[in-house]
This record gives sequence, C-alpha cells and structure tokens, in this order.
Amino acid sequence: MTITTTDETALDEPAGDPLPYLVGDFYHFQDTLTPTERQSVAQVREYFETEVRPIANDCWNRAEFPMQIIPNLARLGLLGSFIPDVRRFPNSAVYRGWMALEMARVDASASTFVGVQSGLAMGAVDVGGSPEQRAEWLPRMASAEVIASFGLTEPLSGSDSARGLRTTARREGDTWVLNGAKRWIGNATFADVVVIFAKDEADGQVKGFLVDTTTDGFTATRIENKIALRSVQNADITLTDVRVPESMRLPGIRSFKDVAHVLRLTRCEVAWQAIGIALGAYEAALAYAQERIQFGKPIAAHQLIQDLLVTCVGNITASIAVCLRASQLQDAGEQRDEHSALAKAFATARMRETVALAREILGGNGIVLDAGVARFFADAEAIYSYEGTREMNTLIVGRAITGSAAFV
Ligand SMILES: Cc1cc2nc3c(=O)[nH]c(=O)nc-3n(C[C@H](O)[C@H](O)[C@H](O)COP(=O)(O)OP(=O)(O)OC[C@H]3O[C@@H](n4cnc5c(N)ncnc54)[C@H](O)[C@@H]3O)c2cc1C
Repeated sequence: MTITTTDETALDEPAGDPLPYLVGDFYHFQDTLTPTERQSVAQVREYFETEVRPIANDCWNRAEFPMQIIPNLARLGLLGSFIPDVRRFPNSAVYRGWMALEMARVDASASTFVGVQSGLAMGAVDVGGSPEQRAEWLPRMASAEVIASFGLTEPLSGSDSARGLRTTARREGDTWVLNGAKRWIGNATFADVVVIFAKDEADGQVKGFLVDTTTDGFTATRIENKIALRSVQNADITLTDVRVPESMRLPGIRSFKDVAHVLRLTRCEVAWQAIGIALGAYEAALAYAQERIQFGKPIAAHQLIQDLLVTCVGNITASIAVCLRASQLQDAGEQRDEHSALAKAFATARMRETVALAREILGGNGIVLDAGVARFFADAEAIYSYEGTREMNTLIVGRAITGSAAFV
C-alpha cells in the first residue's frame, strides 16, 4: 500500500538532549537501557509527543487511524526491531518493551498498530517463513511498503483457538483453498496481506498463509462502535474459496505450537504496553491534581488523593520490575510461556486499577477525553483482553506452578 506523509522531519538524526526520566519512572528503570537504546527511545518519545499526542484524541473520537504516521513509525525503526535482517541496530527485549511503553503512554492505538504489523505479522513471517519469503516480505513490512495483519481469532473461537479453529485449508495441486471467518483482525481493513491461520483438512494441523487482500473471496469489514482502541481498524474477515498459492504458505507454521511461539514472543510487549497506558493516565492525573484547587488547596495536597497517586506509582513500578525481568529472561533465551503470561496478567490487572484511580482523581473531568485520562481508561479494556485474557494467562501460570492444567 502507498502511504504518503507530509512530515519528513529528521527522524534519522540522533536526539541531542539526554533522555529525561518519565514522571512515573520512579526507580529510574530507564537506566537499564544502553546509550544507543536511550537515544532511540528519545527519538520515539519526541515524535510521539510532537506529532502523535496532538491528534490522538481526535482520531480516537472519529475512529480513524492516523495513516500519515505509518511511514514515520517505520523510519523510527519500530517495525521489525527484533529481527536481525531488518532492525536498525542490535537491541534488547527490554528496549523493545520500553518502546511499546513509550508509544502506549501517548497513544495505545498507535502502539497496537505496531504490535500487529511488527510483533504479530512480521513475527509470523520470521518464525514461519522460508528464506525466500523472509527476504521478500520482511524488508517491505519493515519499511511499511506492505501493511500486514494477523488473522487467528474467529467469531466462534477466541481463547480456545488452539483447538477451536474452524477456518479450513484444502490443498488442490499447488493451490490451497481457504474457507472460514476471522474476527477482530487489527489493521485488516487497509492491509495488503493477512496471515491467515487455518486447519489443513488433510492432517487437521494449523497452517499459516500469507493472503493477498485483493484475492477473490476475501472480504474485511470494519467492526464499528468500539469503546476502546477506537483508532485501531479491527475487521471481521470472511474467506470464501480463497485460492492461495503454495508459495504463500508459511512452511515453518506446522501446528498450533508454532503459532503459540509467535504469541509467546509478543505477549510480554503487550504487558509493557499496559504499563505505558497506566503511565499516561498517571501523568495526566498527577498534573491535574497539582492544578485543581478544592477546599483552598490543590487536591494533590489532600491525603486521600496522595494515597491514590502512590498506589498508581506503586503499580507502575512493580509492573516495570516484572516486565523488565521477563524481558531479560527472553534475551537470555530462558523465557517460558508462564513468564510472559504472568507479566501480561499482572501488568494488565495493575493497569486496570491505575487507570480507574487516575480517572477518579479527575472527578467529572475523568470522563472527558480532553482532560487526558479518559482515552487511557477506555483503551485499557482492550489491552486487558487481547493476546490472552487475564484468565487464560492465569491458567498458563497456574498450570506451571501446580502441574495441573485447568483450562477445561
Ligand atoms: C481490540 C482488539 C484487537 C484484537 N486484535 C486481534 C488481531 O489482530 N488478531 C487476532 O487474531 N485476534 C485479535 N484480537 C482477539 C483477541 O485476541 C481475543 O479477543 C482474545 O483472545 C479473547 O477471545 P474472545 O474475545 O473470543 O473471548 P472468549 O474466548 O470468548 O472469552 C470470553 C471470556 O471467557 C473467559 N474464558 C474463556 N475460556 C475460559 C476458561 N477455560 N476458564 C476461565 N475463563 C475462560 C475469557 O477469559 C473471557 O473473560 C483482538 C481483540 C481486541 C479486543
């Protein structure tokens, strides 16, 4: 897809100033990043503050994604930053998590776009693609020349997609014929390709296909009237005798285990996103509390408001500590499913409490978009449920610590 941008600012230039600490980074966790990583974070922070924050509420209100930012997300190195073939520089999982945090503390819809394009879709090609497919698709996805989606969830199968997928793939010579439906697929209304997961009729195993969205029989219809992540374009997809060449099947996706591998790599970044949402809400609430006068003094000087603010900063600090260690385990090659599952379950639960307290601190203004907390409050609900609900992640951790699987 061709996307034009009017903003050709020098995103490739190193940021001049040292990176100030975020208001909510109470223990200065940012210092765990390398100087190169901090410089990259500074660029992203500046871009999101100057170009994304001013338009985020309006786009959210109109339920439109700011397409003009997509080329800049690519230029900032946010697409495929975990893939050696296309990344701008070698970096850590902590850095990538921190980038998700930085984006989400300004606009969780923009960070979700990156999560889908980079983590899920490019992750699927990285894990499942042949050398030729990787060479063809990853650079074009990293530059945002190609926009991609990740089609796993179905109308009748969400948490149980490991065994409940109903979309089918039937091989006919060198062609596969796909039939079925998908739901919630992010970016799919404007994507060029969607990674579709379907059960092979022959062996019953889940396989992955890069489906060109212009193929006959493919439709993507926007899901309307969402109350969270309104800028993200989620779609219902139907596949009716969609013919896909064998060359577009991802040979490394041989069963659901390979899909789970992609999800394991991205789940921790969703946990970092949750911290970003909590941070964004906390920062707005703290600023408001220092300005808002009631009973003759700023509400920040009332003990009960301080209690709420301290609970927020405690939640954020504890969540960063959990995610930081989970990401370090990923870098060390020691991260297991239960590690990323606990990070996601913990950080999203703390996020949900934090955005509610931040909203409370703003009183009535807490439900007004312009006051700075309401969008985070609403967006938190989607992050809480996607890429594994709290219940699913809790069951993954429960299985690990007890030895008993309690999913059914
Ligand atoms: C904004 C948004 C973006 C998304 N983007 C994508 C995308 O790009 N691609 C994609 O493939 N999917 C996407 N999803 C789908 C998302 O991953 C699913 O919504 C999620 O996995 C939950 O599935 P579900 O909504 O069908 O809920 P269900 O699975 O129906 O669950 C409903 C409730 O029941 C609970 N539950 C289910 N089973 C159990 C059990 N055994 N024990 C206890 N509780 C249980 C769940 O935790 C949940 O609370 C997106 C979703 C949203 C909201």
